[in-house]
Amino acid sequence: MNVEIVTIGDELLLGFTIDTNAAHLARELAAIGVAIVRRSTCGDGADDIASAVREALDRTGAVITTGGLGPTSDDLTKPSIAAIFGRAMRLDEAILENLKGRWKARGWPGDMPIANRQQAMIPDGATVLANRHGSAPGIWLDDDAGRWVAMLPGVPREMRGMCADVLLPRVRERLGANTTVIASRTLRTTGVAESALPELLGPLASGFDGLSLAYLPGWDGVDLRLTCRGHMAAEATAMLDKGVAAMRERLGATVYGNGSDDLAALVLQLLRDRQMTIVVAESCTGGMLGARLTAIPGSSDVVLGGVIAYANEVKETQLGVRAATLATYGAVSEETAREMASGARSRFNADVAVAVTGIAGPDGGTPEKPVGTICIAVDVQGAVRSVRPAVVGDRDEIRRRSAQAALSLVRRMLVHPSETP
Ligand code: AMP
Ligand code: MG
Repeated sequence: MNVEIVTIGDELLLGFTIDTNAAHLARELAAIGVAIVRRSTCGDGADDIASAVREALDRTGAVITTGGLGPTSDDLTKPSIAAIFGRAMRLDEAILENLKGRWKARGWPGDMPIANRQQAMIPDGATVLANRHGSAPGIWLDDDAGRWVAMLPGVPREMRGMCADVLLPRVRERLGANTTVIASRTLRTTGVAESALPELLGPLASGFDGLSLAYLPGWDGVDLRLTCRGHMAAEATAMLDKGVAAMRERLGATVYGNGSDDLAALVLQLLRDRQMTIVVAESCTGGMLGARLTAIPGSSDVVLGGVIAYANEVKETQLGVRAATLATYGAVSEETAREMASGARSRFNADVAVAVTGIAGPDGGTPEKPVGTICIAVDVQGAVRSVRPAVVGDRDEIRRRSAQAALSLVRRMLVHPSETP
């Protein structure tokens, strides 16, 4: 089944409201095997709604709208779509009584505001979709040709509730038994450029045995998402299991997690499993590493603390970095990073220390050390390893990528202690 989504609202076109409804609907429908083949957004005008929905219906015969079901003059979804189906609007007494009851229950003195009567108007022949989460009911309108439009409210909380309560069951019913699903699995990588991944993946670079592969780069790395379409749920699971195993075998330590795994949480767990403590020594990340680690509930049994050693003086006095090291190699050097890590580890009496120093920009770069030069060192019980990745982006991205790269080195040293970086 192919479906289009039309989200309605001037605020969406103006960019004041981010269209989270369409994303939610697309994910929920994919999970039951319905492909969203196009999404569009239109303003609140009656003509805009009518043309957007008519075009979508012409393509797929199945449309879900959100928004414009409220009680005000800009809520024109129902009459606009009723007109497409050639239906008149009528007052639904049951909805009206229900609305009046809601207003009374809220302690409203006197009659319900006139404007709310509009919410009790529905197209002839429409099915009312009950809304337990708010006042405006949804509407299901279909015709003899099997075309249908489901109209849901715009308020995300109500929309999500109605999607689960009434929309998905209805769509499932239409799909009938033996329907296929659209299922995905994500592997998270970090430290390898998107363009370098195809080579690592070799024959799997464009997918695996009927599974399609998407490369999704972000500041925290590149996610690889395998998607299976057109198979029954159990079969899809088995195919994805095989695909994930094959990809993991090729990518090795480059993969750090699945789905939406947070590298900081994984590192924390690795340390906890080994009954190890960690400290941070941060220059250019200014506390981001500490923040990432302590954002995880239960971090206190693993994280001891750290130093934000921004100035050279602090690197020397608080971490014991030698003046000669700073003078010879500079503050942004693997040598300095190594002394920061070892100094932090011994001063805090921790098992592991991670240090970051780098040039986040926009100023401060030189030909030898351009903006984005980052030096990271990790000391695990006296075994020190350092790397000097070049990261890209603006100041904010460089700092976030540096923290991620630092966590990645900790992880690799714990999981693959004999590996050279
Ligand atoms: P409406 O049902 O059109 O009156 O929308 C009510 C409120 O829901 C709006 O003020 C928006 O804040 C929010 N909203 C409407 N459409 C969306 C959407 N597609 N995604 C996220 N929020 C929305
Ligand atoms: Mg609106």
